[in-house]
Amino acid sequence: MLFGIELIKGHKVENVPAKTIRDSEGKILLFSCSQFVEDICQGSCCFICGAASGSNKFNNEHVFPRWLLERYNLFNKTVTLPNGQKHRYGTYIIPCCQDCNSLLGSSIEVPVSQLLKGTYSEIAQAVKEYQDLLFTWLCLLFVKVHLKDKLLRANLDHREEQYMIADTYFWPELHHIHAVARSIYTGATLTNGVIGSLIILPIDDPSTSELFDWMDLTNQQTIAVRIGEVGIVAVLRNASACVVGIRDFVSRIRGPLGTTQLRELGARMAAANADLITKPSFGTVISKELDKFQLWAKYSDELDFSPFNHEKYGQLLAHSLSDRLEHLSINGECGTERVKAMLLTGKVSFILDANGNFRPPANNPVRTVQQSESTGESCSNKGMVVGSGYYANCSNNLLEAIQRSSKLFDSVMDSGAMNQNEVSFSAVA
Ligand SMILES: [Zn+2]
Repeated sequence: MLFGIELIKGHKVENVPAKTIRDSEGKILLFSCSQFVEDICQGSCCFICGAASGSNKFNNEHVFPRWLLERYNLFNKTVTLPNGQKHRYGTYIIPCCQDCNSLLGSSIEVPVSQLLKGTYSEIAQAVKEYQDLLFTWLCLLFVKVHLKDKLLRANLDHREEQYMIADTYFWPELHHIHAVARSIYTGATLTNGVIGSLIILPIDDPSTSELFDWMDLTNQQTIAVRIGEVGIVAVLRNASACVVGIRDFVSRIRGPLGTTQLRELGARMAAANADLITKPSFGTVISKELDKFQLWAKYSDELDFSPFNHEKYGQLLAHSLSDRLEHLSINGECGTERVKAMLLTGKVSFILDANGNFRPPANNPVRTVQQSESTGESCSNKGMVVGSGYYANCSNNLLEAIQRSSKLFDSVMDSGAMNQNEVSFSAVA
């Protein structure tokens, strides 16, 4: 028997669970949408178990986990917030109850820190087996980053009216992603399609010494993250539709990307998500006996995109690169205003040239020069006006498209061409 179903579709909230569902011991298995918003997003309850802040011992959970900060020496470095302010990673924390903090450490951070260790090839291989773990972790990071924004002032000028960065967020959009993130606590399993578009690919960026980079696009639930020599692009709530829609573009990537290129790929995936006409639905099903507790995805038979809109994509691209405009040049032109204006046209690419061929950062002539900070001299930071953009038409149903697309990338790997310099693709069928 089903007694807990949520359905959040696009920006419209439909049939979200009206009642929070608990087990016989009172543990929250599924938050109602309103309790999620009131207790977690606007209140101060533990974001995993929902305990009130006075009822359990609380401590602080790093938004980006300690192992990551240690591995890449990030404690004193900064992340750029949506308001343009810098925040030190070391103090980029959110409150969490002690029990859940320990659980997150042992159940997800320890295994993910192992999963993301080693060379690109080793990681890409391991991820095939542990996609659920990686995807859950990405959802967890996305949730933490956005919950942190409720604690940060949008405007630091005390003379002006105060509001928080998160005040503009539409929290029900995060309900499903939150359910995935806390599946480590609830034990819910992820069924086909819950894992969104997920691409893992090698990174080699001679223009920067930074080995960690994070970019997210809130409204499109998209992440582009660099972790050492691995880049991950994920759209969290789209049942792999985006990667299928831009698979022709992705298949042209024939080697490692630079960080700017990784962010471009994130913006392209986000644009595909925005242009996907029939959005998948997501939900949770719990049987009365609790022997079935699954997160599910339901998607349309047809995969249909609006025509590629350069301006819409341009806005996503400009936003994705907003903190590195001074490092970029496009058609040889520099300057933040000029670069931003050109990005906004949506006709710029750092990944492909005007003929649609891949532009590897490894061809960069300054590769051997030692650089401590980003100088923008890498080829991967030099954009070109290419003027094209389209989505692959998929008249078959999405599941078939996902399977075909998986095979496409598997065949690249099986052909023996797959090495450190090839892209690996990951989609659940
Ligand atoms: Zn807790």
